[in-house]
Amino acid sequence: MTARPVPVTTVETKPFWDGTRQHDLCLPQCVQCGYLHYPPQPRCRRCSAQDMTWTTLSGRGRLWSWTIVHLPSLPGVEPPFAICEVELEEQDGLMFVALADVAEHDLATGLQVEVRFAEDENGTAYPQVHRP
Ligand SMILES: [Zn+2]
Repeated sequence: MTARPVPVTTVETKPFWDGTRQHDLCLPQCVQCGYLHYPPQPRCRRCSAQDMTWTTLSGRGRLWSWTIVHLPSLPGVEPPFAICEVELEEQDGLMFVALADVAEHDLATGLQVEVRFAEDENGTAYPQVHRP
């Protein structure tokens, strides 16, 4: 199996990946209005302010939707696997996307989940959706 690709960081995403190394889910939060953003944005989607601060979130949320991928399409991840969309508890409508570490038959809309981190052989920590 090919290795999972190493994330390429940008100015906007580096704090996110720095947080994953500590097993923290960190997202940018608008200093002006408090709105949280995922994926990271250089400017607030709600008020257009450019000042952001990085906030560590609980990682807790509810499963909103998912899809099961049966074809080999993500290097380093053996199919089948589930890609989950989780609404994080810190903000209504704040959706986070990650692979599931939950059995397919246990996936259900509204399921309480949390984001944890799993390290690959290169030490890169990737977020995963787990049951608490
Ligand atoms: Zn704002």
